[in-house]
Amino acid sequence: NEVILEPEVVETGESEETKPMLDYNNIKSSQDIEVPPLLIDQVIGHEESIETIKKAAKQRRNVLLIGDPGVGKSMLAKGMAQILPHETLQDILVYPNIEDNNHPLVRSVPAGEGKKIVRATKGSAKGHEERKTIITMFAIGGILVIGFMYGRLLESIIAAALILLISIQIKPKSNNMSPKLLVNNEESRFAPFMDATGAHAGALLGDVRHDPYQSGGLGTPAHERVEAGMIHKANKGVLYIDEIGTMSMKTQQELLSAMQEKQYAITGQSENSSGAMVRSQAVPCDFVLVASGNLQVLEGMHIAMRSRIRGYGYEVFMKDYMDDTTENREKLVQFVAQEVKNDGRIPHFAPDALDEIIMEAKRRSGKQDALTLRLRDLGGLVRSAGDVAIEKGAEIVTAEHVVEAKRFARTLEQQIADRSIMQRKDYSMVSAEGGRIGLVNGLAVIGDRSGIVSPIAAEAAPTQSKSGGQIIATGKLGEIAQESVQNVSALIKKYTNKDISNYDIHVQFIQTYDGVEGDSASVSIATAVISAIEEIPIDQTVALTGSLNVRGDVMPIGGATAKIEAAAEAGMKKVLIPKSNLKDVMIEKKYEDMIEIIPTETLSDVLENILISGSSKDKLIEKMKNIGSKVAEKVPQT
Ligand code: ADP
Repeated sequence: NEVILEPEVVETGESEETKPMLDYNNIKSSQDIEVPPLLIDQVIGHEESIETIKKAAKQRRNVLLIGDPGVGKSMLAKGMAQILPHETLQDILVYPNIEDNNHPLVRSVPAGEGKKIVRATKGSAKGHEERKTIITMFAIGGILVIGFMYGRLLESIIAAALILLISIQIKPKSNNMSPKLLVNNEESRFAPFMDATGAHAGALLGDVRHDPYQSGGLGTPAHERVEAGMIHKANKGVLYIDEIGTMSMKTQQELLSAMQEKQYAITGQSENSSGAMVRSQAVPCDFVLVASGNLQVLEGMHIAMRSRIRGYGYEVFMKDYMDDTTENREKLVQFVAQEVKNDGRIPHFAPDALDEIIMEAKRRSGKQDALTLRLRDLGGLVRSAGDVAIEKGAEIVTAEHVVEAKRFARTLEQQIADRSIMQRKDYSMVSAEGGRIGLVNGLAVIGDRSGIVSPIAAEAAPTQSKSGGQIIATGKLGEIAQESVQNVSALIKKYTNKDISNYDIHVQFIQTYDGVEGDSASVSIATAVISAIEEIPIDQTVALTGSLNVRGDVMPIGGATAKIEAAAEAGMKKVLIPKSNLKDVMIEKKYEDMIEIIPTETLSDVLENILISGSSKDKLIEKMKNIGSKVAEKVPQT
């Protein structure tokens, strides 16, 4: 019953390169690609979502967009505003209320009218002032002339002075009484789009400014202090809110009532402000809500809000990758053209640079035959490649510029990973040579796609406790360690003939980072523990990753490419990965000769490749061969 596979060295996806990713016969650069005028047509890779958005726009329905950051959610929302059915846009004015100063009046007029009305009332106030000045001058002049003629100069001067005083005292009342333009759509070509992400209650729902002089009658009239909220500015258009679950329940509640009523009175949002005394007439806010976020966002979302969207709108799940087809590669080219155009400062991309971007989209998808749709990040690469080209005085962006930009445009996590590699090299925390008992070079991913070598140390000592040994693991990853050691305890017993409950086992992650996903550490932990119990040294030039099930099968993990690259960077000679992950491997060319990739299917494959040869290893492997993984299947799950 031969189960150990001779590990094969594998060709990675990238070796059949040199063939261009696309046939660029018809274009010299991305400049020759047409960029569609409407934003919705610029959204790439979400055909189904776009269909839904178009339908929702036609019927003015609310939409919930669920998806990862940077896949185009706000872009879709903005695009939706452009295709909303044309409704007459309105300007909204707020007027003083002579009867109840704290209850300003609201009026809506066709777009463009608002400004005229304000100008007219301001104008009439000005005209009034001018007339008053002229009349006053005439009166004073007349009295002085008459006084002079009748020899009553003194009296006439006194009279003139009195007239002047009275005239100054007559304040132009209408100046304060002209309306305030609350929402101005004079120059709007499309329905408004308002991004209310992270807006506090006042900005979202409108507010009334505080006025310290309010009680003395000296202050600014109430209606002047009324400020429109985004819900009002979004009237007849789209109100977009990302991460809606982080908004307070109270605000969500108010938002919901605004959606139901399609109008919402403005009042001061801070209780102790004089603004809180003021409450305007209801202000129209007939908007379409586009809410977005990732799946977790739903947890913080007001139940009634969710059900309102479900009942009166659409829920859309957005993908984070698309299939790697010629058509989709062409879309990526269109994407580059758009990004260049929108940026306005960087040069266009030559075919080889476009190829490099497509390749990067492939790599970033982390999957075989897929292209990433996390295009915000990819857009960042496009811009930095453009910057590199500009710095070099180039008129067109070439592949070299893109490659160089990749080095600069590293995410925070990648930079942390880089830094830790440097540190490790300095302190030789990762020892890429020799054999060590109980110490393995695990691999992890931090952030989105940054690999990192994460050494794990295990120590085993016969327990003193009567109730059996303990698994002692510190830190956040303790739980994972517990689970994976528990998971493999039966295997360990089979393989080593030793019962781990007779040992106290310490497992330690030498360096941990937030965001390290844990599952892929289980093969590493099991290996470290077996090495510790059996006292067989681990080859420190080998790094490994994989998830282990109770039967001893190595299961696939995420981020294979990033992990392999990190291992290569750290100077490892070999890397063990789950065989089922081979198809995901898209390492950059420069790493291909640096490291040997060995696929593994079972824990015995792993041990065979990572333990340092010697009598104990041979004995262990021999035993494992005899047992075979078929037997391991029958191991009770303890
Ligand atoms: P999200 O709202 O999902 O976080 P955005 O819509 O803000 O993402 O995307 C940010 C930018 O990334 C966009 O302005 C656009 O330049 C680019 N982008 C993201 N997704 C796409 C896409 N699917 N098609 C074209 N460009 C995209």
